[in-house]
Amino acid sequence: MIHFHQINKHYGNFHVLKDINLSIKQGEVVVVIGPSGSGKSTMVRCINRLELVTDGELIVDGVRVNDKSTDINRLRRNIGMVFQHFNLYPHKTVLQNITLAPTQVAAMSKQEAEQAAMLYLEKVGIADKADAFPSQLSGGQQQRVAIARGLAMKPKIMLFDEPTSALDPETIGEVLDVMRTLAREGMTMVVVTHEMGFAKEVADRVVFMDQGRIIEEAEPAQFFTNP
Ligand code: ADP
Ligand code: ADP
Repeated sequence: MIHFHQINKHYGNFHVLKDINLSIKQGEVVVVIGPSGSGKSTMVRCINRLELVTDGELIVDGVRVNDKSTDINRLRRNIGMVFQHFNLYPHKTVLQNITLAPTQVAAMSKQEAEQAAMLYLEKVGIADKADAFPSQLSGGQQQRVAIARGLAMKPKIMLFDEPTSALDPETIGEVLDVMRTLAREGMTMVVVTHEMGFAKEVADRVVFMDQGRIIEEAEPAQFFTNP
């Protein structure tokens, strides 16, 4: 589903991704760990072309991400993304945050989009907050809205960039529970996180990055066994 082939990326003179080779199958959950600044976020953001790679070939769902002819909107419709800082529209309600893309990008009717949104809100456990504004919600609730929004375009892939790093400890679990459910349902997921428990339990594969390189790649049982 996602193929990095000999990917390099530079920010000016700074070589941020070095010879990345990684293939992720449909339904696989890959957790990316490593020190701050090692390139985890950059690697994940290349998948939906929030960042451009400098060279190498990146193929996502059969599409060459960096070709000039690639339809970015079509690519991104297949990829839901959840960020550390939620990135919800503060002046829109929870329901409006979720229906925005389906109505504007996918040309779904308002009624159809709202019906679908309510199902996603039930799925993440906050249907009762549909008419609230983001500022009225806890961090964990806001992040669950962001996940529902990501799901609203019925993506094939969900990307998570440190989804629990900005949360109070007591709300981290509720977000991880939703992610665990998605994983169990067969969603293809790439997750940057410092939550080692989640990596151990949920990942099919753990990728460890350091200074722009993939240093190790293994199933969690193998990865977390100290030789
Ligand atoms: P991680 O997610 O592992 O913390 P990042 O991918 O966010 O790492 O960043 C990797 C390195 O690239 C860091 O040193 C960061 O400062 C640098 N970096 C990230 N984005 C940019 C940018 N837009 N321009 C220049 N350098 C950047
Ligand atoms: P987060 O931790 O939420 O991913 P970051 O602080 O890593 O946020 O980055 C926020 C934004 O700043 C990103 O778009 C990233 O690409 C950019 N960025 C990070 N480091 C640098 C840098 N050294 N120079 C320029 N832009 C950067």
